[in-house]
Amino acid sequence: MNYSEASKILQVYTLEYGLIGILSKSCRNMKSKLRSVSRSLLSGTYHIYYKENGLSTLIGVDVIHPYSKITTDLERVSYASYLLDLTYQVIKQGTDDSFLSLLEATLNKIEEGLDCRTLVNIYEIKMLDYLGVLPSLDGCAVCGNTTNIVTISSDKGGLLCGSCFESGVDKIVSTKTIQLFRMYYYVDIAKISKITVNPENVKEIETFLEEYYDKYTGIIMKSKKMLKDVKRLQIESKQE
Ligand SMILES: [Zn+2]
Repeated sequence: MNYSEASKILQVYTLEYGLIGILSKSCRNMKSKLRSVSRSLLSGTYHIYYKENGLSTLIGVDVIHPYSKITTDLERVSYASYLLDLTYQVIKQGTDDSFLSLLEATLNKIEEGLDCRTLVNIYEIKMLDYLGVLPSLDGCAVCGNTTNIVTISSDKGGLLCGSCFESGVDKIVSTKTIQLFRMYYYVDIAKISKITVNPENVKEIETFLEEYYDKYTGIIMKSKKMLKDVKRLQIESKQE
């Protein structure tokens, strides 16, 4: 965020101190050498004057990954910003830093140009684990039955079997959606080289995730609204 006349305060997640505030002095001046590195979506070695109970001060950054393809593409940058927002909410609730490799892998795949929408869904499912509210993925959320799984239900908390399914209350999703839903949790993002998911399945998984996040996490993000606008634009441009 902007601070005083020409400075910024950066929120940086560090391996040593967790999430810290760093003052980047005068970085909004055109000539400042800190200008290009005082932004989001950047990983690197941050040289700082560290202050334990207050704002640290930035000296410079050796950039490891600038994510330049993401930052120059509206769609990719919207999804990536949403990812950072979600991660920030997860960090605030307290977690170890094992999420970092997951975040890095996901950003790398977005940078490579793989389907952002699916990557974000995969990340969202994995983050539920960090939030301590992972849905039931291996058996029926109500009775534990591992056979005759017919749908996923945000109300019931995950997979649902035929005996626990209530018609008129629960919605049926396709078998493929159930398979993908489980696979998203177990897949190693760093190893994905290609993504092809049917739009119908994407929609069903997104609906589940949205309801589930609303119901169990208490996380509200303003970047989600922006993401919805971007998705709408994508659909409109495809229809034209
Ligand atoms: Zn059941």
